[in-house]
Amino acid sequence: MLALVDLVLPTECAACGRRGPVICPGCAAALGAPARLVWPRPAPAGLPPPYAVAPYAGTVRDVVVAFKERGAAGLERVLADALARSVAAAAASVGDPDDVLLVAVPSSSAARAARGRDVALDLTRRAAAIRRRSGCTVRVLPALRLARTVQDSAALGSQARADNLRAAFALRRGAASRLAGRTVIVVDDVVTTGVTLRECAVVLQAAGARVAAAATVAATQRRHPPPTL
Ligand SMILES: [Zn+2]
Repeated sequence: MLALVDLVLPTECAACGRRGPVICPGCAAALGAPARLVWPRPAPAGLPPPYAVAPYAGTVRDVVVAFKERGAAGLERVLADALARSVAAAAASVGDPDDVLLVAVPSSSAARAARGRDVALDLTRRAAAIRRRSGCTVRVLPALRLARTVQDSAALGSQARADNLRAAFALRRGAASRLAGRTVIVVDDVVTTGVTLRECAVVLQAAGARVAAAATVAATQRRHPPPTL
């Protein structure tokens, strides 16, 4: 009910608080750039080339957090639009851009319970729908699940993140036969160290998929790279 009220009677920008629509034109513009290749430093071995439209900082971070953690309605469209541009750039970088399969990084069951949905999967589905309206035959396959409990990685350093996520993902039942021989783009809302995307790519590749790229809305840029592993 709240979500509907927000859409019909927006009061203030979810990112900056300015009175008006749920996202003001200035904050929406922060997500309006073309997607580009954004390698984390250091990039984990085996990370597919990752695309994003913006650094994960400032206004963009405020928009993502408002959407993910506070469920701010009305932000999904601008985030899905950004993700669709990232998917388009990722798809353009592979050999068969009109026939790619999108696989979203799965949320933990705790995150799904807290948010009432799988944020990355929902955004991926909307981004795919946007791409299809441009004539692309992009499809979404929820191929992955978390194989075990993982810690919230937000407070973890690079090495701890890698340890936390090692072998954390597995195929969902029935997914393997739909992945073999396909060109896949793995999708998440934000890329930080790249370890999550890499771990997902490893599982998909073991099933015979060609994981050609990764697409995200935003990329964390570290000022002080941690020590290499
Ligand atoms: Zn704003």
